[in-house]
Amino acid sequence: MQVLCGNSGPDVDWLVDKFDLDMSLLARLGGHSAPRTHRGKERFPGMTITYALIQMVEKISERSDLARIINKAKVKQLLTKAGGVCGVIYEKKGKDFTEEGPVILATGGFGADFTDDSLLAKYRPDLLHLPTTNGDHTTGDGIKMGEAIGARSIDLEWVQVHPTGLVEPDDPEAKIKFLAAEALRGVGGLVINANGERFCNELGRRDYVTGEMWKSNPPFRLILNKAASDEIIWHCKHYTGRGVMKFYATGEDLCKDMNIPLSTLEATHQAHFEAAKKQEKDPNGGPFEAYPSGKTWDDASGKTGVGKKFFHNTIDGSKVKAEPFYSAIITPVIHYCMGGLEIDENSAVVAQSGKAIPGLYAAGEVAGGVHGNNRLGGNSLLDCVVFGRVAGRHCAKYMLGDKFKNMDLKELSGGGLAADKAPAAKL
Ligand SMILES: Cc1cc2nc3c(=O)[nH]c(=O)nc-3n(C[C@H](O)[C@H](O)[C@H](O)COP(=O)(O)OP(=O)(O)OC[C@H]3O[C@@H](n4cnc5c(N)ncnc54)[C@H](O)[C@@H]3O)c2cc1C
Repeated sequence: MQVLCGNSGPDVDWLVDKFDLDMSLLARLGGHSAPRTHRGKERFPGMTITYALIQMVEKISERSDLARIINKAKVKQLLTKAGGVCGVIYEKKGKDFTEEGPVILATGGFGADFTDDSLLAKYRPDLLHLPTTNGDHTTGDGIKMGEAIGARSIDLEWVQVHPTGLVEPDDPEAKIKFLAAEALRGVGGLVINANGERFCNELGRRDYVTGEMWKSNPPFRLILNKAASDEIIWHCKHYTGRGVMKFYATGEDLCKDMNIPLSTLEATHQAHFEAAKKQEKDPNGGPFEAYPSGKTWDDASGKTGVGKKFFHNTIDGSKVKAEPFYSAIITPVIHYCMGGLEIDENSAVVAQSGKAIPGLYAAGEVAGGVHGNNRLGGNSLLDCVVFGRVAGRHCAKYMLGDKFKNMDLKELSGGGLAADKAPAAKL
């Protein structure tokens, strides 16, 4: 946790400075006590970050032999020598190949493996019936390969179920679902049940919101009024284009589609609005316990014991009839594995003894034990960047010993990514 938090600021700066990324917007996500999650004005943050990193490593591999990319290959086994890891065996086009050297595993979690011998079946059989947001590559290979050579795993039973998987109206049973980014709730999206009522603190932790959904009446909707959707319009248009979100010119149209009286949605917004006003006037005087601390006036969430304290882009009931809304049907989905291979502060994978295994590192979702039993939104991409860098640095030190030195990405890549954007020199 110390490594994650301590490196958070400098590593966001690193992305902005070295990769020229837009990370200018800041949102409060579920469970956050302050707005602290960065994103750009367009595109999803994961896309923004990974595209830039991939471009950079491609540039370096084109210019030097310091990086080499092998695509469409499946690593099958870690090779060991004298108690350390010294390479991998991978399969490509039906043939096996060996690659020698220390290894940084970055193979992700296991949230899309529904087979009988999967880690999900072993540790969380109760979740097997749920859909997932994870791609079908997310099968826990790195964890299994690590365990096979004596690495210690941790917290494998902690699998996060995210409340806002997006239901495709034409294919509601699809096992793989799009995710409604948590920032949609951060900008003021409300979660309502089939009757048009709120039943939870939209900014509670993911496990809490999901838990309240199980107790309420589906189908659930995530709805954004104009001010909220304007703040995150790229996302809303993207989901609408994919058919998993719908635009309604008025609240009245939304109510018709939901088959509920307009007066219900008006009452839901009026109560939320009044709670926000009271909260503004008297932040500590409310009758309910708030999350993460203090008191709240919000009746709908206050009753759950995890009351809403932060209100953003609220509208009163009288506006609902003519208000434009974006709305999506949402359902709980397997999303993230808090568990994985246990790492130390150098991102080295530890053995059963608790000692680092020489030559084996892990970064990203394959590593476990950093996020407790429920990761907060935004912290995974952060974890990938922070521990990716920590692992890279320590792996390089392991390989190079005294010859280790800091390198400049700009120099290695021939000017960095900005060089591609510069106007071509006149011939
Ligand atoms: C839809 C969605 C939205 C998200 N949004 C956010 C967000 O906004 N903020 C946030 O912090 N987190 C978010 N997360 C979580 C975060 O994106 C993931 O936890 C993170 O991308 C994991 O990165 P990773 O590199 O560890 O693993 P992955 O991204 O899963 O990549 C693993 C890679 O390893 C490869 N691989 C696996 N096994 C093998 C093998 N045997 N041989 C060779 N290659 C292998 C896979 O093909 C894949 O390319 C989101 C997740 C999803 C699914």
